[in-house]
Amino acid sequence: MRRLFGYFSVATVIVVALSIFAAAATAGLVILLGQGFDLLYRGEALDTQWYIGVGGELLALALSTFLVPVVISHDSQLLTSYHRSILLKHYLSIGPLAVRKTGEGELVHAAMESVDRSVKYRSTFLGPASAAAATPVLILIFIALFIDPLSAILLLIPTGLVPAIVLGFQKRFGGSSGEYRRAQGILSATFLDALRSLNMLKLNSGSIWMGKTINAATERVRQQVMKLLARNQLILLVIDSSFAVLLLASSAGLAWWRTSSEALSPGAGFALIILSYLMLAPVNYVGSFFYIGMTGRAAEKQLAEIQEIPMHPSMANPLTVNLKDNGLFIQNVCATYNNADLALNEINLQFPAGSRTAIVGPSGSGKSTLIRVLQGQLESSAGLIHDGRQAMGPATLKANTAVVEQQATLFGVSVGENLRIGAPQATDEQLLAALSQVRLASWLAAQPLGLDQPLGEGGARLSGGQAQRLALARALLAQRPVLLLDEPTSALDVHSEAEIRKILRELGASTTIITVTHRLGLLQDYDYVVVMDHGRVIQFGPREQLVKQEGYLNKALSVLDERTAQLQSSGLRALGEKEA
Ligand code: ADP
Repeated sequence: MRRLFGYFSVATVIVVALSIFAAAATAGLVILLGQGFDLLYRGEALDTQWYIGVGGELLALALSTFLVPVVISHDSQLLTSYHRSILLKHYLSIGPLAVRKTGEGELVHAAMESVDRSVKYRSTFLGPASAAAATPVLILIFIALFIDPLSAILLLIPTGLVPAIVLGFQKRFGGSSGEYRRAQGILSATFLDALRSLNMLKLNSGSIWMGKTINAATERVRQQVMKLLARNQLILLVIDSSFAVLLLASSAGLAWWRTSSEALSPGAGFALIILSYLMLAPVNYVGSFFYIGMTGRAAEKQLAEIQEIPMHPSMANPLTVNLKDNGLFIQNVCATYNNADLALNEINLQFPAGSRTAIVGPSGSGKSTLIRVLQGQLESSAGLIHDGRQAMGPATLKANTAVVEQQATLFGVSVGENLRIGAPQATDEQLLAALSQVRLASWLAAQPLGLDQPLGEGGARLSGGQAQRLALARALLAQRPVLLLDEPTSALDVHSEAEIRKILRELGASTTIITVTHRLGLLQDYDYVVVMDHGRVIQFGPREQLVKQEGYLNKALSVLDERTAQLQSSGLRALGEKEA
């Protein structure tokens, strides 16, 4: 982000030029008024040249005053959308794990609030404030050229104090606006958590607790704002009054001394006092410097830090591999989230092309981690993934796999747009074919807008089964040789689950399917089974062979059989009692 913000934009340069032009026009006007005063004082008439001069200055002033806000508002809009789109691209490039690690609340806050603040700083503040900072110099030059060089030199002394004091206060205030930004980040994260877990909070009567947490976060923000305001107001008061008094008193003293010694005319003396008032322009920006300047710079610091999160390796260029014909091999693969504990420990597996494999095992055993590694989301820390010929990194894996997760991620846009996320070039015919493959053709026919039918936020208008089938259609459209499924039916009813299983069974042998599942009763859909525990593969082989072999799977299946038998007999007993 430093790359983006580290320059004065063209708009800022225009704003600075226009604002300096306006200041010059005002100074010129004041000097002309002084000269007019002298003419009238001497009993002479104001000439045409004077009127033309005043008219010209007024016109220049009006024009630049009108143009500055127009340029600023145009620039703000452009900058805001530009920075948000750059940021979004960056979020996509760092990958979901880095997003979660950085904190989704912080990233949302950065994209909304911080971009707003930094744009406000860049476009509404930086240009006018830089021009204001240059104004005293400009005015001193005008005084030296058109009024009195000696007064200009003497006025340099109080003027020089302004930047020294502003810089001094800038140092003191850095920390306090940083604390404010952190408090804001925590508040955004808390809100995001609350929104995401509304259902859970409601079910567990957690809304009171969440309300208290949000209140505490809001209170922290309020305290930081009040702290910032109180310190600001005090400093503003001191700076404002001391400078106004200092400059005005100095210029009034100078005007009195120079006019009484007849070095200056009364009109020039009058112009000197008014011009010294114009030199207070930078002081007017000290206030906004703390509000807009400091918070804007803190926001830019946050954006720069986010920009420094490195791009995920899966964003590199993928290699060309042939996973349609060659199998997928995993050799001694390890993976970790925190560089300390191994979530995958020395994994060795092979998935023949077109095979179907179920990954089972207790919770926390590393099943989802294995799927993340295979989809290129998490880079393995050791070992090799290859197709029998070439090693594959995250980018190649990403390009060759499609994923269906437990909960389908759908967007509020149309059916067609949701489907085209994985296959932007797909034609309408291909979309319809994929929908009929997942048995959604009749559902689509009932939608008044067909493929253009909006889905509602998060696919709210779909049942769980429909959403999951739509996600499956999207994965199929991407035409990747490997389909990764992470418990795709765990949130579905029995009927919807049966439908998804049927669709998966119908897929040709051109797709290798790897599914994480906890449904041991449905293992007959798979050729191979992997049993994981504590990040290791404890059993792996053809299903037929594995179910007979002593071990975890065999035991778990016996427990399942016993339970089914118990259920059946208690059901029969209940039926018998009813009949008796
Ligand atoms: P499973 O899918 O079998 O339930 P996971 O692959 O989700 O298991 O988890 C394996 C291990 O990795 C667990 O110890 C879990 O705590 C850890 N883990 C999973 N996801 C993350 C993550 N995003 N950050 C840190 N650790 C994680």
